[in-house]
Amino acid sequence: MLEQITNEIFLLKVPYPYGMSVNSYIIRGKRGLTIIDPGFDRVETRNLWKKTMMEFGEKIERVIITHTHPDHIGLAPWFQDTFFAPIYVSQHSKSEIDRGYRRSLEKLKRLWEEYVPISWPNPKWAEGFPENFQPDGLFSEKRLLYIGDREYMAIWTPGHASDQFCFYNPDEEIMFVSDHVIQETSPIVSYWNGEEEDPLADYMDSLEKISQFRVNLALPGHGSIIMRFSERVEEIKKRHDLRLEQILKLIDAEGKTVLDIVDEIYDIKNMRSLFSPILATLTRLLHLEKLGLIRGETIGKNKRFFPQ
Ligand SMILES: [Zn+2]
Repeated sequence: MLEQITNEIFLLKVPYPYGMSVNSYIIRGKRGLTIIDPGFDRVETRNLWKKTMMEFGEKIERVIITHTHPDHIGLAPWFQDTFFAPIYVSQHSKSEIDRGYRRSLEKLKRLWEEYVPISWPNPKWAEGFPENFQPDGLFSEKRLLYIGDREYMAIWTPGHASDQFCFYNPDEEIMFVSDHVIQETSPIVSYWNGEEEDPLADYMDSLEKISQFRVNLALPGHGSIIMRFSERVEEIKKRHDLRLEQILKLIDAEGKTVLDIVDEIYDIKNMRSLFSPILATLTRLLHLEKLGLIRGETIGKNKRFFPQ
């Protein structure tokens, strides 16, 4: 489960019960170990970390959190208590923590009820949010911070999450990309705290933003490491454009709910797996509405979308 990526960077695959395992990175430096995203909190993930830290036998300099989704931040309080590790989050993440996960989830639920003709599925991962958690340090956009012995620039890339950050080192051309770019799947782009304006527009801007950097090795939050980074970024961009075109074509004079669209573009096997496609599709529909290409209207209980 532990893989060495470079002289100083190690990848630990941390199991996640509700999706792809999480990539935690352990970076060795003169002042100790830096850990990026410890993973989801479970007995088995705690045990995995105890064993791994015993093997390393070095102190933890700090833990850096890329965004506040529970598969990434979940174990942060346990790291504070168990290893006395200082936890660093971005100022954006601090705002998310202060906003309160329950409040965010409540807003997301209200958005769902406005648009989706089936009941809110109470996602299981929501139980993984850390309660009463206070980080030890903050970073912000364009700030340089040490990861191991190298300086990385923090780059704010909202879209997958409004507080999503990547970290870039220009000498090695290494970027920790977290869930902004994933090799095996197009990262879900969705409303999350219910207060974002247009996550898809943010996401596309953030893809554009990181395209400006020369990246030789991209280290994502899930899946395999990315060797052809700019190609992967282009693929993801194209895929979003195609989906938007596809949805636009499906909107007809009778109007469509988000569920009608999901039915037509995805091959869904069970209700549980509907959650992400519905949120991703709703995000696309609201993006198209913001662009003035379609319009939403409440008919009966839910909103339907019509041609402009
Ligand atoms: Zn993730």
